[in-house]
Amino acid sequence: MTVENLSDNHRYQSIIEINQKTIAEALEQYFQQSEQIPTKLVMTNHQKQFVGFLVQKMPSHNVEELAFWQHVEILTNTLKSDELLQWNNQRLLKNLFCEENVRLFDHQPVLFKCTCSQEKSKNTLCLLGREEVLNYFLTNKRLTMTCDYCDQTYEFTKPEAEQLFH
Ligand SMILES: [Zn+2]
Repeated sequence: MTVENLSDNHRYQSIIEINQKTIAEALEQYFQQSEQIPTKLVMTNHQKQFVGFLVQKMPSHNVEELAFWQHVEILTNTLKSDELLQWNNQRLLKNLFCEENVRLFDHQPVLFKCTCSQEKSKNTLCLLGREEVLNYFLTNKRLTMTCDYCDQTYEFTKPEAEQLFH
């Protein structure tokens, strides 16, 4: 599991054992084990639409808040797939937590954005070292690096690679 914080450009990675039946359960376990944040996550999909509802408990050991968190978990567990797919955020919160004082923040669009670049690829090659990189060109004309996150490829010729070590 990798969490990227775009505001400080840091990437946090945690490896957990996957012994749950669903992605939602695996993510809940990740947040519980690695972040120590009690989390309830409901996910569903229909054709190409994929939606999720995530609730997390703010840090506190107050007994009343723990009881309230259990209440929130029970309410969240009542959420059905068709409701999650059809209701907008306002209706979802209003229906799910009708007796609570809930505030809906302005939404922010979700977008996929990878931070990889030609420059970062060059840095990675530098870390491998001159000998290893140049040995690669004994049997290959081009060196291609592919980002595992976005599938973007970065290619280097031998002169370009040699340039990195001058
Ligand atoms: Zn990338």
